[in-house]
Amino acid sequence: MMKMMFPKLTCAAVFCCLVACLEAVESQTVRNMPRHEVVNKAPSVTEQAARHVILMIGDGMGAEHVWAAWLCNRGKLNMEQLPIVGFVRTPSASATITDSAAAGTAIACGCKTRNGQVGISASGVPQMSLLKHMAARGRQTGLVVTKAITDATPAAFYAHNKNRYDARNIAVDLLAAGCRVVIGGGEGLISPAQQAQLRAAGTLLKLRGKEHCDPASRRGDFLSDSVAEALSVLEKYPHGFFLMVEGSQIDTAAHANDLEELVQETLDFDRAVGVVLRWMKAHPDTLLIITADHQTGGLSIHGGSTEKGEVKASFSTTQHSGVAVPLYATGAGAAHFGGIQENTDLLPKILRAIGE
Ligand SMILES: [Zn+2]
Repeated sequence: MMKMMFPKLTCAAVFCCLVACLEAVESQTVRNMPRHEVVNKAPSVTEQAARHVILMIGDGMGAEHVWAAWLCNRGKLNMEQLPIVGFVRTPSASATITDSAAAGTAIACGCKTRNGQVGISASGVPQMSLLKHMAARGRQTGLVVTKAITDATPAAFYAHNKNRYDARNIAVDLLAAGCRVVIGGGEGLISPAQQAQLRAAGTLLKLRGKEHCDPASRRGDFLSDSVAEALSVLEKYPHGFFLMVEGSQIDTAAHANDLEELVQETLDFDRAVGVVLRWMKAHPDTLLIITADHQTGGLSIHGGSTEKGEVKASFSTTQHSGVAVPLYATGAGAAHFGGIQENTDLLPKILRAIGE
């Protein structure tokens, strides 16, 4: 078949194909990123019931993204200190390649849904999210992200909508969620009246940027500082809390096939992991899970050096890919998160970890 078609290809078409192939494997090199110190040892895994649950999601963060950041931070990351490691499968109800809405819903609600939908089943039935399960059990709740607070991943934890881009109605659902801490982008998406309503209800609300926060290269320590602030507020409640932290723009950098920004975003996320690990030393009754919703960019590492803090890598797509993503866990009830699991397995396992 190919032989019959081949003579019809013009020289220009062959040249275009070759250029496209060369572009697909074009390597980028990143080096000399600022290095951050990592914790020596993560808190241990225990069998006690978890009072606090912290779920950290690197949006689009595949294992390769973690290893690229590991090379650039001279062979050390906070994430790799966690003793329990697993993989999470990511297909949605409608596609092998998930989007953040369906993957967020699978993690938040334990239910596979169609791409584009948040907080509802594939057939449209509203689902109870982890955040709402925790609130129903008297736990305080918090969300810290670096894209809009109405974006798909955080929305999956509090909203029910067929359309992930319906920010207006997703914002209405945020008001009903009763979160104690809401930090992220989206100042232009939550109306001044809604912002006032949230603050009047006792929410620590900090919105940075009309839609999304700045990228890591221009954001400073926003994520780490916000996580520290969220913990200082939430730790005061004796019944415990649920905090979701998202390194939201790892995905954005990978869609743009921008290796340097991707490494900066992943290192920024890892610094926030360090904040949590240091806090957990005084709070061993905490379950910490770090994972991703899917992998973005089809990153492949071709070389690098921990001595030079250098990585050489290329992307194979500007879209999401279908590979399983890494999971790291420690603390109270973390032992159940090792091995290979579906993204929908996390919610029932977390409920078991809090003693259900
Ligand atoms: Zn994406």
